[in-house]
Amino acid sequence: MSGFPELPDGRLEQKLADKAPLFTHGEAVTEANRCIYCADAPCVEACPTGIDIPTFIHKIATDNVRGSARTIFAQNLLGASCAQVCPVEVLCAGSCVYETWGRQAIQIGRLQRYATTAGLEKDPALLSRNAKPKTGKKVACIGAGPASLAAAGQLALDGHSVTIFEKRDVPGGLNTTGVAPYKLFAEGALREVEFILGLGDITLETGAEIDDAAAKKLLDDYDAVFVGIGLGPDSMLGFEGEGVVGATALIERLKLDASLTLEGVETALVVGGGNTAVDIAHELALLGVPHVSMIYRKTEAVMTGYAHEMATARKDGVRLIEHRSPLAIEREGEKLVGLRTQCMDGEGEEVFAGDMVIMAVGQSRLTGLARAFDGVALDDKGRVVVDEATCRTGHAKVYAGGDCVNGGKEVVNAAQHGKLAAAAISASFGAQ
Ligand SMILES: Cc1cc2nc3c(=O)[nH]c(=O)nc-3n(C[C@H](O)[C@H](O)[C@H](O)COP(=O)(O)OP(=O)(O)OC[C@H]3O[C@@H](n4cnc5c(N)ncnc54)[C@H](O)[C@@H]3O)c2cc1C
Ligand code: SF4
Repeated sequence: MSGFPELPDGRLEQKLADKAPLFTHGEAVTEANRCIYCADAPCVEACPTGIDIPTFIHKIATDNVRGSARTIFAQNLLGASCAQVCPVEVLCAGSCVYETWGRQAIQIGRLQRYATTAGLEKDPALLSRNAKPKTGKKVACIGAGPASLAAAGQLALDGHSVTIFEKRDVPGGLNTTGVAPYKLFAEGALREVEFILGLGDITLETGAEIDDAAAKKLLDDYDAVFVGIGLGPDSMLGFEGEGVVGATALIERLKLDASLTLEGVETALVVGGGNTAVDIAHELALLGVPHVSMIYRKTEAVMTGYAHEMATARKDGVRLIEHRSPLAIEREGEKLVGLRTQCMDGEGEEVFAGDMVIMAVGQSRLTGLARAFDGVALDDKGRVVVDEATCRTGHAKVYAGGDCVNGGKEVVNAAQHGKLAAAAISASFGAQ
């Protein structure tokens, strides 16, 4: 991998299998031929980036993988990672007409993975050769996650010079550090970063955290600024000490840190009922932790974690304990031995034995940086306020997108924000 550090061998994520491996040519063509190319395709309506799904699938069926990839990238430059990480069950595939007939939906995600992989293999310069001539305009993107990468890629294709500032040593945002490995390994996320960097004049500066003073300076040095900083560290609800970890911090280590071991962990207790809670519980179970329980204060019927993800996690051994809210960490000396909980469905308390407690109850907001720009407003939940159509903030030169705007959705929503912002920034340059 060029440009940023090699990932070390021996990372725990390397022990996990790819849950939806790349289709062979034969598999892809066979699956593509099942699609009936609906006229008002509901799958397109359900895609936040509006990819022309029947068209890209038809191009696979006719062996035009370059054209197929081009159709995908025309709407979503992160079409490769979205193919692997999108919750297609509740988006495109979930609305496929086959579902309404009680039959298996077209495997849109796997077809999209095939098309983007095969298309770029055949023609690595598929998009970059059509980049527009240099405009002389300069744009700064803060953060190298999906939102900024989508914005940077489109801005580069539009002929502008882009600099991406990323505080971590590795780019890719949560695609690299957070997404469940069985969907997308860190290497895959970094390959996509390389693809984006190859689209035009894009410089990536890693280990470059933008603080308030640096943010203000960007306004002097660049013609526009895109803020794609995502969310902050895990909320810990005051629980701390040896044996207590935040879910995203732990996932980041099992994806990137070869020194992490789960040896000796017999029982892991995951607090939360969202997708991050389901993900870390599932990952720990797959990595061989013998007992993994999710402790959730409400019921499965109302939990925000996707039902299809919970079902597979359960099949792999994860237990869901409903109606329990965490009260205190139980310790013998320094050693964590369990979690005391409040029963929400009646009186009393219950203690669950365990040797690791993982907090998956949400992430904090990175409100400081946005506030550094005059005119940029935050709502009462700490999200950056933008115009929906352009992702422009209250400052005429500052745009924002992704999790810092929507409070935490999916990669595809971040990609759409980046796309909208890039279009608006290019239009603003044209208007000058
Ligand atoms: C555990 C987990 C699993 C997920 N799984 C899925 C999934 O399976 N499918 C899916 O579609 N979505 C998933 N998501 C959601 C998805 O990852 C996010 O919606 C998406 O990554 C948001 O992109 P972003 O660019 O807004 O933010 P991020 O991906 O968070 O990227 C922001 C980047 O900005 C950098 N940054 C922050 N502050 C600064 C600063 N001051 N200076 C420089 N750089 C800075 C950060 O280091 C980071 O790299 C998951 C989220 C989590 C937490
Ligand atoms: S809804 Fe299903 S069958 Fe119709 S175009 Fe989309 S993927 Fe094909």
